[in-house]
Formats: sequence, structure tokens, C-alpha cells
Amino acid sequence: MTRQIGCLLLAAALCALTGCGDAGQATEQETSSASQTATETEELPSSTQQVFAMDTYMTVTAYGDQAEAAVSAAVEEIQRLDALWSVGESDSEISILNDSGSILLSEETAELVERSLTLYQETGGAFDITIYPLMVEWGFTSGEYQVPTQERIDELLELVGSDKLEYDAETRQLTLPEGMAIDLGGIAKGYVSDHIMDVFEEYGVVSGMVSLGGNVQTYHTKTDGSLWRVGIENPDETVEALSGVSYVGILSVGDKAVITSGGYERYFEEDGVTYHHIIDPSTGSSARSGLLSVTIVSEDGTLADGLSTSLFVMGKEKALAFWAEHSDEFDAVLVEEDGAVTITGGLKDCFESDLDYTCVES
Ligand code: ADP
Ligand code: MG
Repeated sequence: MTRQIGCLLLAAALCALTGCGDAGQATEQETSSASQTATETEELPSSTQQVFAMDTYMTVTAYGDQAEAAVSAAVEEIQRLDALWSVGESDSEISILNDSGSILLSEETAELVERSLTLYQETGGAFDITIYPLMVEWGFTSGEYQVPTQERIDELLELVGSDKLEYDAETRQLTLPEGMAIDLGGIAKGYVSDHIMDVFEEYGVVSGMVSLGGNVQTYHTKTDGSLWRVGIENPDETVEALSGVSYVGILSVGDKAVITSGGYERYFEEDGVTYHHIIDPSTGSSARSGLLSVTIVSEDGTLADGLSTSLFVMGKEKALAFWAEHSDEFDAVLVEEDGAVTITGGLKDCFESDLDYTCVES
């Protein structure tokens, strides 16, 4: 695996538009404001809070005169959205829908369901919120893991397919055919981090970031005008053993979501086989696409979350073909089972790694 020199030689200007965020602009802004009021920047109030929601630890950090109020409001929003969508809470909107089979969706849930249905179409079914009955059967919802028989998987696959949902966008009425159920777990955290960026905006935050169990979204640059540096964790001991490094690489970004999906996040082993929580809707079992992890970089956190799951299911070849069609919307870092690392063109100037990697252009 060798670095593509051509990739490294290409202009940095493109990078500001795609991979890294508004690096140039932000740096200019911050540089000028810093030179005006250096002490003001140093004294900028900051606030950080941790919260456990959506099955993960989340950290919200903000800098600005109203930093504390911004972070408190963000945490309240996290808790509100968790309560709305959690499949583990019987009174969440999604649980009520799954139990009753039909519901008039709230505006926000409708928005997320609509984004999910669009992704289902665009990804050729790799992203499918109707995999929930399979999540339950495999025990990923309860922790009581089991490998279902092929017969049982086939039976449940009959209940999978977002094209079977009846949804009226005008009235926001969603109806599930008998036995079907949905789970927004593959996309909800991205929506939440997007939403926190809106909260930051509302409170005049100067600089901020949120980390939702490894999924990161950054607001503007750091207070000194430099880009945020987000590490991509090494997804596997194999890669770590091969490389001796604990990070696949570091991404320098501003105003971007950096969201990773990997089979290493939640899994169990049986008879020497590892089963993880990302389901390939075409097989009903854990996706085995040769990828260990997929990191998506995008201004759109919801898209980044949905696509990290989708591209993981697709595998490298399809993932890169998908990127080539949508390279203005996102970039990606793919890590394969043999440790090979591939980045897409928009990241060429914002990705640093001690590993060899390949950069592909669209
Ligand atoms: P995590 O939330 O663990 O960071 P993901 O964003 O990849 O990782 O989401 C995994 C979750 O998405 C699963 O726990 C499940 O709820 C849901 N999911 C699993 N497979 C799919 C799929 N093919 N399409 C949509 N959602 C999925
Ligand atoms: Mg996801």
C-alpha cells in the first residue's frame, strides 16, 4: 500500500470546501479577531458537561459568553431526543409506534424517518431502519446474544424492507405492516449532534464540540483559530499490531461531523465467530464486507451517521462508488480487515497518519 503522491500534490483549496471545513476562512476570521482582542479570547468562558444517553457517554463543550447556558440546553436536548426515540423506553414515540403499528409522527421524528427513507433509497437498501426485529432476535437490544437459525432469519427478513412501510408525508402518519418495527439507532446520534450545532448557534457559541460515544461534531474552529483534531481510533488489534499505532489517523476539521461505525463497537463471539450490531439487510446477519470501520466526514451529521452504517454494510468497492457519486456531500476513511486504509480525495490535506494509506479521487 503506497500513498498516492498525486493526491498529496493537489491543491489545498479544494480541501477547505470538502474535507477539512472552512479552514482558510475560519483561520482568517479567528486570526483577525485574535489580533484585535487577544486577552478576550483567552478569557472566553467555557463549559463542559458529560451525559449518558443513547447507550453511550456524551460530552458537550462550548466556548462563548453563554457557554454554560448553551451546554445545559444541549444536554437537555440530548435527553429529550433520547426519550423520544429510545427503543429501550416503552413510552418513547418509536416504542409506541412499534407496539401499536401506526402513529402520527411528531415533526422531528418525521424528519428523521424521512431522512432514513431517503438513505434507504440512495444506498440501495444498505441503510434500513426496519432491521429492528433482527436486532432483537440476535439479542443486540437485550444483551442476551444468540445466533438465530437460518430459518428464523429468513422468517424475520420477511419483516424487513423500508419499502413496505406506509408513510404519508402530508399527514406524517406512519403505519407498519404486522410484525414490523423500526429503530433509528443508526442515524439518531448524527441528528442529535447536528441539532446541538443549532443550539450553539442560538447561544452565540464561538467554538464548540460534541462527542457522542466517539462520534464527533465540531462547531467552528478552536478558539485560537486552528482546526479541531479528531482521532480515528484503531478499530482492531490486528491493525494496531501491524502498525503499532493506536490511531488510524488524525483529521483536522472545522464545522464538520466525524462519525465512525465499526463492528468492534458492540459484538459477541460464538464458536470462534464474531457477530456485531451492524446488520446487512440483505442477509439478516452481521455485515461482513471486509471493512473494520468506516469514518464519514461531512457538514451534515445526520448524513454522516447514516452513511457510516451504510458504507460499512456496502464494503469498500461499493462504498467508493457511492462516494464518487456524492463526493460533494461527504468524505470517508475506510479501514479494511487486513489493515489497509483508504481515504477519499477531499481529506487529502486534513488527514495525518503514521500508516501508509491510499487516497482515491472521484
Ligand atoms: P453506533 O450507533 O454503535 O455508533 P452505527 O451508527 O453504525 O453505530 O449504528 C448501529 C445501529 O444502527 C445498530 O445498533 C442498529 O440500531 C442500527 N442498525 C444496524 N444495522 C443497520 C442497517 N443496516 N441500517 C440501519 N440501521 C442499522
Ligand atoms: Mg450510523
